[in-house]
Amino acid sequence: MSPIEHIQKKGSYIVTGKADTASMKGMKKMTVLEVKNLQKSFGSIRAVQDISFSVEAGEVFTIIGPNGAGKTTTLEMIEGLVTPDKGEIRFGEMKWDNNRTAIKMKIGVQPQSSAMFDLLTPEENLDLFATFYDKARPTEEILKLINLTEHRKNQVSKLSGGQRQRLAIGLAMISDPDIIFLDEPTTGLDPQARRNIWDIILELKKLGKTTILTTHYMEEAEKLSDRVCIVDQGCVVILDTPSALIEQLTKEREVRLSFLDGVEAATEADVFSKNLESVSRTERDGAALKLWTDKPEDTLHDLFKFTKERNFQVEQVSIREMSLEDVFIAFTGKDWRD
Ligand code: ATP
Repeated sequence: MSPIEHIQKKGSYIVTGKADTASMKGMKKMTVLEVKNLQKSFGSIRAVQDISFSVEAGEVFTIIGPNGAGKTTTLEMIEGLVTPDKGEIRFGEMKWDNNRTAIKMKIGVQPQSSAMFDLLTPEENLDLFATFYDKARPTEEILKLINLTEHRKNQVSKLSGGQRQRLAIGLAMISDPDIIFLDEPTTGLDPQARRNIWDIILELKKLGKTTILTTHYMEEAEKLSDRVCIVDQGCVVILDTPSALIEQLTKEREVRLSFLDGVEAATEADVFSKNLESVSRTERDGAALKLWTDKPEDTLHDLFKFTKERNFQVEQVSIREMSLEDVFIAFTGKDWRD
């Protein structure tokens, strides 16, 4: 029995050992959600124009896009809160039209913070939400999962933004759903509070849960997701694993150098680099030089040979990794703003 099966059988949320991710990787893919050609307009605003994707069991699937891209509307249609104008939503064989109750048992939706009871404690909120379901996970386990055991008896109104968001995730988990929807759970939080939420999402993954997440933060999508769906203006721009998306970009890398010998050295290195076949373009700013090359190793080898011959001292060298932000810019032609 794998550690995950063991935990599920025991009915415990708390991961005591390392999840057997190797055996998860070997597992056959199973589609738990399929969305086809979703459309939704509000008056003249076409919030969702054409969105299709499918989500596999156990993955963290992230929908990312700028403000107004249609992420929340898409999620709300999938959650059964908004009726699509067109399109299809299936949870396996189940559809909202005829399997409402069964789907509700299968999914967990992070409530808006206004849905929490501010004058109650996290423990009381969880206990109360538990009464909405036929079966619920023990509050104790949820408090541990969301790291709020210490604050279990504090009034919700006294919690920080990050703690409230963690409680919201706990409330989505109370019915032990297979699929959890988190709509921008980290927006407005400081970096540490965001990381605490990331830890919970990774913990959910270890438990074999499927998480569907929306975010504004590229870094978050890159770190957490098995697959990322970039949406813009109500349409899917591109969908793949973060590494495959980055791989699809040109193999070109940005190399940065700075010289102890100042502007003169950088200028000469610039002229030299421009003549290298592997270098497509350069940019110089004072003693710093940036260049773009599809063969960083060869380029640096040639450059270091040159600087050694000229007795120039290189102060710093770095090769910038491509990020999802570069993918967004490449596929939409727009700058990314959080
Ligand atoms: P954000 O990241 O800012 O939350 P989003 O990607 O989630 O944006 P949506 O909230 O789905 O985008 O909104 C998509 C578009 O639809 C926006 O132009 C928004 O103003 C509009 N919209 C969403 N809900 C409604 C509504 N109930 N009535 C009218 N317009 C709406």
